[in-house]
Amino acid sequence: MTTPFDVISVEIIPVRLPLIEPFVIAYATYTHTESILVRLTLRNGVTGWGESTPDEAVTGETPERVLADLCDALAPAVIGVDARRIDAAINQLTTLRRSSPTAVASLDIALHDAVGRSCGLPVWALLGGRSPGSLTISRVVSIAAPGAMAEAALRHVAAGFRTIKLKVGDAADPELDASRILAVREAVGNNIGLKVDVNQGWRTPAIAIRGITASRDARVDYYEQPIDRRDLDGLAKVRQATGAPIMADEACQSPADALRAAQLGAADFINIKLMKSGGLHNAIAIDAIAHTAGIGTQVGTMVESSIASAAGLHLASARSNVRFLEMGGPLMHADDVGDIRSWYHHDQITLPDAPGLGITVDDQQVDRLAVDRKVVA
Ligand SMILES: [Mg+2]
Repeated sequence: MTTPFDVISVEIIPVRLPLIEPFVIAYATYTHTESILVRLTLRNGVTGWGESTPDEAVTGETPERVLADLCDALAPAVIGVDARRIDAAINQLTTLRRSSPTAVASLDIALHDAVGRSCGLPVWALLGGRSPGSLTISRVVSIAAPGAMAEAALRHVAAGFRTIKLKVGDAADPELDASRILAVREAVGNNIGLKVDVNQGWRTPAIAIRGITASRDARVDYYEQPIDRRDLDGLAKVRQATGAPIMADEACQSPADALRAAQLGAADFINIKLMKSGGLHNAIAIDAIAHTAGIGTQVGTMVESSIASAAGLHLASARSNVRFLEMGGPLMHADDVGDIRSWYHHDQITLPDAPGLGITVDDQQVDRLAVDRKVVA
């Protein structure tokens, strides 16, 4: 039986989004974001947008693989699906491509957008409601010399940001990382929040304990993924040995990972990213497990465009357990496909009361930034 909510076609559009300045983290330097956009069309004529932004170091997915997974398996599988049946749809897609959460994420986001637009409801309402008020984000500082990082942090503080996130992660010299963190603390003073993301860079618990001990006086909000993502036991050891607040990022992708992190006492916080979880539906499960275990969450980003950033903001807005938010992609791109920048004012973000993701995607911008285009119907 057909319904007005059935998916009748999927467009798959890889794009390259230039960054304003190169982004440097422990394992890579980026000048562009490579995203794969999807646009679903329902029988009722409503469309929904989604985005996959792969990071091979995190999920093992390259842009080429995401494109192939979408074209060969995932997009054909959603043709004919009733978009309102999101749980069934995501379970089916996850079964088809269990190790491709980033590819699944774009379709999950597009299904939520299309259902919201069809019903006149914002995605945050589909996810459980919205706390009043605006959301606050931090700005990120790339790895550099301590003085240069302190200068970059001061620039962000001058632009109105009250929390700064530092990228570090030098296994050969964790004390140099500590001097980066301390230099920034010294520069910005004690009233600015500092987060530290090591991106697995300290590799082992012994090195992480050195880095954390040497930077203890900076009193940071958390140390994110200090060691190799495959070592959750080690993460628990670091947490126990230092007493420092620890966030799991690369180590925690699926609801099963969140459960294991909770059982091991490996983290105070979990960084949820839609590209790791396979979209909003599984992200809700991760947040529910974390909440039950007394673990706070952050909604993070792979430096995504307006589309996936909007989805992350709707998630953060709908869940009271979300303590931190990083949705800086729209502030880092020189070009975007949507208009989400109008939601941002310094470090405050206010979501509009509009259906679906609430953004307008500019077709001409998509055409200009597209490197290919496929249609599955
Ligand atoms: Mg991280």
